Amino acid sequence: MQFDVILIGAGIGGLTATLALQRQGLRVAVSEQAAEPFAGGAGLLIGATGARVLKELGLREALEDLAVRPATIAVRHFHSGRLLAGTAADPAGCYQIGRADLQRALIAAIHSNDRNCLHPGHTLADIGQDASGVTALFAGRQMLRSSLLVACDGLRSAVRTRLFGDEQPRFTGYQLWQGLVPMSHLAPAAPGLSDATIWIGPGQQLGCRSIGRGTQLAYMALARSNHWTDEGWSKPSGVDSVLAAFRGFDTVARTVLMATPPEQSLSRGVFARDPLPAWTQGRVALLGDAAHPVTPFPDRATDLALEDALVLARAIAMAGTTPEALQRYAAARIPRASASMVAAEEQGVRLTTLNPDAYVPGTTDDPDYDPVTVAV
Ligand SMILES: Cc1cc2nc3c(=O)[nH]c(=O)nc-3n(C[C@H](O)[C@H](O)[C@H](O)COP(=O)(O)OP(=O)(O)OC[C@H]3O[C@@H](n4cnc5c(N)ncnc54)[C@H](O)[C@@H]3O)c2cc1C
Repeated sequence: MQFDVILIGAGIGGLTATLALQRQGLRVAVSEQAAEPFAGGAGLLIGATGARVLKELGLREALEDLAVRPATIAVRHFHSGRLLAGTAADPAGCYQIGRADLQRALIAAIHSNDRNCLHPGHTLADIGQDASGVTALFAGRQMLRSSLLVACDGLRSAVRTRLFGDEQPRFTGYQLWQGLVPMSHLAPAAPGLSDATIWIGPGQQLGCRSIGRGTQLAYMALARSNHWTDEGWSKPSGVDSVLAAFRGFDTVARTVLMATPPEQSLSRGVFARDPLPAWTQGRVALLGDAAHPVTPFPDRATDLALEDALVLARAIAMAGTTPEALQRYAAARIPRASASMVAAEEQGVRLTTLNPDAYVPGTTDDPDYDPVTVAV
């Protein structure tokens, strides 16, 4: 079977890139190591730029239907629960959506173009390239060849290592827990919860967001830590460790943590990498976390991956050759993503070292950036 693009990783970045490339008329073969592409995850935050991409790709209705759009974000004192700030959520964006919901919507759109392009249970083992094309070798010895390979294989990207060496992500000093709680488990806490609530404590923060048309609550709890547990996304952690780490938090916050079904709680260390000066080599490009893992201060990983996907497809549409397209893509994306990585690390230090009583909201990055029209 002939493909135009081999794409590795059916996470949010990979699926969005697949859809964007299909809309340019390209035939994409997607290989995902997991047996089930929407196996894990809790909630994602999509800002104005990410929403712009999804709408451009025809997912406006799915986004409006599946996501919750908070009017304000309530910032509370970790211990007393006192309201420190009620910041207006970005009216142009700020969609809260379950990761699995977004993956299903993307997969449905991809399948409407090509029912056979997703290949779960396929782990990339190695790549090779020459002047005429790129070859991907998978565990089990299967091989694919095409003129372009897009690696959306996440924080521990094997393709990144193959292209740019084995520099390991560094632990940032934060442990992160993510959980998914059915709203029906939260009756006692419900009056103290809005669609978006963040508790700020010394070295700790807990952000709760309603998702799934308001039927579930997704949280992200961050605490400074000298050590980390497993950094994977797919191994339930139970709730004992998050309850111990957040024992000083107010009753509403703790009710949320206690109500988490143990199998719906994930925990991992937060890892970072330094910005890469190049994301492409010949006919191979990195995209999403593989290119630029960002720390969750605030949570911009999904927006950046969505922006990459659209800009890559636009670069391919404009360029005469694959290497030229990849150069345009990298030149358009590296400065913005690198700046976000640095800003997120700085914001992380600020948020987890501040005195909660002196809280002032941070600033968001360039509100005028538009991945649909930015020069490529
Ligand atoms: C299972 C899972 C759950 C997540 N849950 C959350 C969450 O609840 N909240 C949140 O904010 N972020 C979550 N994330 C991270 C978030 O989705 C990303 O940071 C962001 O969306 C950027 O996406 P990405 O496509 O670049 O990377 P990812 O979403 O990490 O996707 C990378 C994909 O590549 C696949 N892959 C890796 N190596 C190979 C290989 N050798 N061969 C084939 N496939 C490979 C992985 O299985 C994965 O599906 C989760 C990621 C995963 C993988």
